[in-house]
Order: sequence, then C-alpha cells, then structure tokens
Amino acid sequence: MKFDYDLFVIGGGSGGVRAARVAAQGGARVALAEEDRYGGTCVIRGCVPKKLMVFASEFPDMMSDAQAFGWTVHAGGFDWPVFKSKLHAELDRLEGVYRNILKSNGVDSHDARATLADAHTVELSTGARFTAKHILVATGGHPVKPDLPGVEHALTSNDMFHFEALPKSILINGGGYIACEFAGILNGLGVEVTQYYRGAQILRGFDSEARGLVSEEMIQSGIDLHLGTNVLEMTPAKGGTSVKASNGITKTFETVMFATGRAPNSSDMGLEAAGVKLGRKGEIVVDEYSQTSVPSIYAIGDVTDRVNLTPVAIREAMGFVETVFNGNPTPVDHHLIPTAIFTQPEMGTIGLSEEDAREIEPVEIYCSSFKPMQQSFAGRSARVMMKLIVSVASRKILGCHIVAPGAGEMIQLAGIAVKMGATKEDFDRTVAVHPTMAEEIVTMKTPTRVS
Ligand code: NDP
Repeated sequence: MKFDYDLFVIGGGSGGVRAARVAAQGGARVALAEEDRYGGTCVIRGCVPKKLMVFASEFPDMMSDAQAFGWTVHAGGFDWPVFKSKLHAELDRLEGVYRNILKSNGVDSHDARATLADAHTVELSTGARFTAKHILVATGGHPVKPDLPGVEHALTSNDMFHFEALPKSILINGGGYIACEFAGILNGLGVEVTQYYRGAQILRGFDSEARGLVSEEMIQSGIDLHLGTNVLEMTPAKGGTSVKASNGITKTFETVMFATGRAPNSSDMGLEAAGVKLGRKGEIVVDEYSQTSVPSIYAIGDVTDRVNLTPVAIREAMGFVETVFNGNPTPVDHHLIPTAIFTQPEMGTIGLSEEDAREIEPVEIYCSSFKPMQQSFAGRSARVMMKLIVSVASRKILGCHIVAPGAGEMIQLAGIAVKMGATKEDFDRTVAVHPTMAEEIVTMKTPTRVS
C-alpha cells in the first residue's frame, strides 16, 4: 500500500519534534500536527519559562549577599511586566526555532488537531486526511485538579506565566515538583506564599533526608508550609478566594494554584477505536520500543506516563527512530535517570533513596550537611547536603542526593559516574576540587550509618 507519509507525528513538543526531525534527516517523508504552540509543555509552559522565573526570583538573595560582601547595592523592586514581556519574547523565539527545525528538515507541519481514523490514517481538524506507514503519538499531558467544590477558582501551572500583575498572596496546593518549584519562585519574587500538602513531607518518593532539608529551607525562606493539610472547598471572596482547609483554617488568598499532578493527553483522539490500549490513568500502553498495541502506532513522552521528563521523551524519540527507521531495535533505558528539582535550594538526585535502597539490600549511608562558604560568609544560615547510598555487597553507589545551589548542574556530572557503576572507592580515589561544595561528595570517609 502506498502511504502519503512514512511517519505522521501527532504533537509538536520536545519528543515529537525530535522524532520528526531525525526521521526526516534519515530520508523519511514526515508530517507533524500540533494544535497549540510548537515546543510543547517544556518550552511553552514548563521547564524553560519556569527556569527563567527561577533565575528572576534568585536576585533578592544575591543582592543581600552582595551587600554582605561589601557591595553598595539596593534591590529596588521587581518589575513583572518588564520580565513577562521578555519571557514571552523568548518563548516566541524558541517556538520559531522549533518550527524552523521542522521546516528546514522537510517536515510538513500542520497547525491543527489530529485524531486517528484508523491504524494508518490521521484526520485533522481542518478536515484533511493523511495516511502514514507509522504514526507517532507524542501529545504530552496536562495539569489536573481534584474534584472539589469551587476548584474552578484555582489556577494551574499553565497560568503562572500569564499574570497581569503578580498577586500579593497565593495558596499553592500540592507537594510535588511543580508545587514546590513555584512556591520558591513566587516567594523569591515577593509574593506571600502559603503551601498546603496533604502528606507528611513534600516531594514524596525522593530521599527523605533530602526532602526534609528542602522543606526546612523553604520554611526558612518564608514559605508558610502546612503539611498534612488539604483544600476542602473554595468560594470567591472579597480580595480573592476563600479556602476552607482540612486543618480547620478558612483564609482568603488573592490567588490559588493547584499543582496536584498531570494526566496524559489521550482523550477524544480515536485511540481506543483504532485499537490502541490505554492504562488506568489514560496513558498509552507501550512496550520497551514505544510500540502500542497497534503495530503501526507508537507513542512517546508524557502521554505514555513512564518517566515524565523532557530528556526522557527525547531519548524515547531517538529510540523510536532507531528502531523503526534505522533497523536497529533500541529499547529505552529508564534506569538511573538523574533529575533536578528547581526548588530553592535545588535538589539533584539519581538512583535509590535511602528508604528504597535498604528495602533491597544492606547499605552504607554517607551524608554531610553543612553551611557553604559563600552563604555562610554572607551571614545566611542555609545548609546544603551531599548524600551517597552505597551497596555493602558490591560497593556501588546506588543513590546520590544533593541539596545545594547548583545541585542540578552537579548531579548531571555525578550521574555519569553512578550510571557507569562507580563504587564508593572510585569516588574516594577522585581528588577533591577545592574549595567547592561538591568536593564533599569525594571526601566523606566514614559512613553516617549502616542499615
Ligand atoms: P507530582 O505527581 O509530582 O505531584 C502531585 C502532587 O499533588 C503530590 O504532592 C500529590 O500528593 C498531590 N496530589 C495529587 N492528588 C491530590 C489531591 N486529590 N488532593 C491533594 N493533593 C493531591 O505532579 P506535579 O504536577 O508536581 O508534576 C508532574 C510531573 O511533571 C512530575 O512528576 C515530573 O515528572 C514533571 N516535572 C518535572 C520537573 C523537573 O524535572 N524539575 C518540574 C516540574 C514537573 P501525594 O504525594 O500525596 O500523592
């Protein structure tokens, strides 16, 4: 059968654009449909604008550190409209880069919503239909809010980049990556931040000592964090939204944001009618090659709800192209993925938490928490933490957890050693880089505990 295309990609985010570009560079005839902005969550309403806001929010502390180092500087005020217009100009530029990548590689882009008509046919909202030998679904995910009275008054992370003016106060509900990152950002920008989290400690699933330090530092920096607390109902009130919470407190906040998780963009796409199996959360079920239950249809990125991170979606895209177009079946390796949470301080992490590791085998824990030189000199009480989880049997580093300014940068490099299977003795043999915070990672000689 003759198809219009070798590959039709649905979704122009990081994963979809990478797959389309690389397949086209290899000579495939490729089309891509995107109903919203090119670049997807990461570029338009996630990692990129979030990180720029993190940078913006860090200046007040830098300013007071500068004073402590003898500089005569005054922070003045933060001009949100100035920052916002630069932020959106940058996002426009990046969207242009994404569009251009497709164009310059000969990919046909369609600014339209695409649904599946059958295993080889895509139908666009424009009414056009195209056949393709392979279809790749890379439609990402979206924020979800629990069903509770008045929840329609709460914003989500998508709205955080579009304030007309910064609110005076905000309640953030949730304790995951997004809730904690925006708590730090908005606090740094001068918004009064209250955060409710239903569990006993934020950032569930990460190493508990690391979570504890992040949470302590967030509170120290002025975030009013309430653990074991959830929103019960919300009603519009003078000056914002009145929020009744499970801690017995009813309080009005100018703005409320829910960061209570994300769900795959898989509905109303004709997936199930075409025979594509979905999981309980609506995620597309795929095998290690990202192939769905329909052999001609593949799926990558957040819509598959495997590890919902941009670089993972990109890996999945590359694995897909290798497998399908280069005759080189390449499963995606989801083991030992380093990641950073851009809280203030940042957390960088790879591998097992202490709690998970000791369920599996006996481990030695090396942990050092200290005041770093720069902040200590400036009179700040902020602490950082370096932690290694070591297998007693193999001596391998099973987990590395860093809470410190720049932890994201540090874990990228430490992650290489951990991924290579480095042992504690390999770390010990590496000479310290002095004076740095990261040198602690190779100078911890005595286990803090063995469990
Ligand atoms: P997460 O799944 O990380 O966190 C969701 C939070 O909402 C949890 O604290 C959860 O509590 C809480 N929650 C869920 N349901 C309810 C409910 N009904 N009522 C109250 N609280 C609720 O989701 P995020 O939205 O923060 O982030 C989504 C994903 O995006 C992340 O998992 C990550 O993969 C990715 N991401 C990565 C970033 C990075 O790499 N730096 C940054 C931002 C996002 P509980 O813990 O009790 O379940």
